[in-house]
Amino acid sequence: MAKRKTHFEDCDVLVVGGGMAGTGAAFEARHWGRDLKIICVEKANIDRSGAVAQGLYAINCYMGMQWDENQPEDHVRYARNDLMGMVREDLGYDMARHVDSTVHMFDEWGLPMMKNEKTGRYLREGKWQIMIHGESYKPIVAEAAKKSADKIYNRIMITHLLMDENEENRVGGAVGFNMRTGDYYVFRAKTVIVAAGGASHIFKPRAVGEGMGRTWYAPWSNGSAYALPIAVGAKMTQMENRIVLCRFKDGYGPVGAYFLHLKTYTQNANGENYEKKWYEHTKKMVGEYIDHHPTPTCLRNHAFIQETMAGGGPIHMVTKEAFQDPHLETVGWENFLGMTVGQAVVWASQNIDPKYTNPELTTSEPYVMGSHATCSGAWVSGPEDLSPPEYFWGYNRMLTVQGLFGAGDTVGGSAHKFSSGSFTEGRLAAKAAVKYIEDNKAKNIKVSDKQCEDFKNVIYKPLENYTVGRNEITGGTVSPSYISPIQGLQRLQRIMDEYVGGIATNYMTNANMLKRGLELLEWLQEDLENVGAEDYHQLMRAWELKHRALTSQCVTEHTMFREETRWPGYYYRGDHLKLDDENWHCLTVSRRDPKTGKFTLEKVPVYHIVDDKEKKKAS
Ligand SMILES: Cc1cc2nc3c(=O)[nH]c(=O)nc-3n(C[C@H](O)[C@H](O)[C@H](O)COP(=O)(O)OP(=O)(O)OC[C@H]3O[C@@H](n4cnc5c(N)ncnc54)[C@H](O)[C@@H]3O)c2cc1C
Repeated sequence: MAKRKTHFEDCDVLVVGGGMAGTGAAFEARHWGRDLKIICVEKANIDRSGAVAQGLYAINCYMGMQWDENQPEDHVRYARNDLMGMVREDLGYDMARHVDSTVHMFDEWGLPMMKNEKTGRYLREGKWQIMIHGESYKPIVAEAAKKSADKIYNRIMITHLLMDENEENRVGGAVGFNMRTGDYYVFRAKTVIVAAGGASHIFKPRAVGEGMGRTWYAPWSNGSAYALPIAVGAKMTQMENRIVLCRFKDGYGPVGAYFLHLKTYTQNANGENYEKKWYEHTKKMVGEYIDHHPTPTCLRNHAFIQETMAGGGPIHMVTKEAFQDPHLETVGWENFLGMTVGQAVVWASQNIDPKYTNPELTTSEPYVMGSHATCSGAWVSGPEDLSPPEYFWGYNRMLTVQGLFGAGDTVGGSAHKFSSGSFTEGRLAAKAAVKYIEDNKAKNIKVSDKQCEDFKNVIYKPLENYTVGRNEITGGTVSPSYISPIQGLQRLQRIMDEYVGGIATNYMTNANMLKRGLELLEWLQEDLENVGAEDYHQLMRAWELKHRALTSQCVTEHTMFREETRWPGYYYRGDHLKLDDENWHCLTVSRRDPKTGKFTLEKVPVYHIVDDKEKKKAS
């Protein structure tokens, strides 16, 4: 262990994860903190990392305030409706009022945007989405971060946050290791902005075996954004609100442009509009929410799932009509080239030409994320001018740990931020982090050598487990003393799939199943002490697994706590199969005690700030 080199880096602002939110944070930190030392640490390579690695075809969050296309209030109403009422409206409004300025910067930086030549307006795919030629999206925002930060560290996985030893509940930095050299890195920092993306692969995916990486959400998103704060006792919110996506089967190609721009539609195997069939059934479960416009994403999933369970599948996207128009046909194919080339390859391999064959759709396994049509994540302070007292404790986007900030998928309660909103939230978090330093809140932080050494021993333990344990193997790869990361991952995925509402049970769970799931997760945690890694890549896999497992415990605790089915189509509580506004029109907040590992949960009021304000103005 002593032979392994340790690098120390002291800085003011440490950004963990250089995805959309992390690049936004690095950029904005420099704007406000001219003389501050800003470091960004990225698990992959910032030029092609995170959910936007491959590019995107649309920026999904743009108000268009300059042309009065939408206002922030409209976006709050939209996100609130889609999430069945459960969003932090202060956070959503705050993001929405700043997001246009972010998109205008992307335009200036050279991101190819599609525009109406006459009016100069961005071409819209839908009410909120604007179309881009987005293959170069990630390298462009990475360049802004690279020019802003003092240093970007690529290929370093952050495994733990450091805590101040002078003041309780204050962050002191983070530690991790370089996956190529194996060196240990200690980043002592005055503030830390966690922007490490959401979690795929905690539920068993539809594609297993050789196709295991083929999921909708990037397989490298491993929930560090949640595990890092959970481990130090930061509060989390809405972790039960996992997302299930309706996408083209097997390739998970996006459907947004198809629905919105190409005006394609879905039908069951008999050519019927199945959504109508499930209207009365859904109304009994969720009441008037089914009459809202647009229909909330989860409720559309619900009709899909019910129809499939009733034997009406496969469900198809009707493309044959739109693809007769050569322009729309081109748009349909190009839509994949900028972000999911794999879908075109899958269709080629399955002999599907959407001009002549309507392609099949599927619902994905659940994922946990805070920036898409879902809002799991950390419980953060909102902005001073908007947030009610319960939502405000001094610094915008600061978690319940002092000096620890979050953005993008990390932050809970604020859905529909997408790429542009996540970058914007990174900017907001960075501005507040700089203010926190300027206000002298980060004075006298103590991180002892012992704390750093202890983490070093913990981080490299999987290598030791392997080195010792492999000697006991007499044949094959099964060791009596350690489990490999892939074995642990598959065990985790089965627990989540079968007990917490994955595809095995058609997203169904109940208190008894959750209780059993929690027991199994606890035993898995015990065994994860004995995970073995044969090289640095496997060491990364081991830590990804540990982060996924902790995230999963939190998801399961939250799912157990909310005794209703708030989002049918995302998951079902079979023992509480109805939406229950009387008892559950509230946000859920959890905290895991770092000393005991036990979770406590509470209900927190959800404030409908936007229409409240308007009502007050009118009266
Ligand atoms: C399949 C898919 C399609 C999407 N389509 C669109 C779209 O069409 N339009 C749109 O606007 N938005 C879209 N989005 C949403 C958008 O991609 C996300 O909102 C956005 O990327 C979230 O930003 P983030 O920074 O939180 O996470 P990410 O951009 O995923 O960045 C997280 C970063 O953290 C790094 N990281 C993770 N763990 C660690 C660790 N332990 N240590 C160090 N670094 C770490 C990762 O490598 C990554 O670079 C899509 C998302 C997905 C998953």
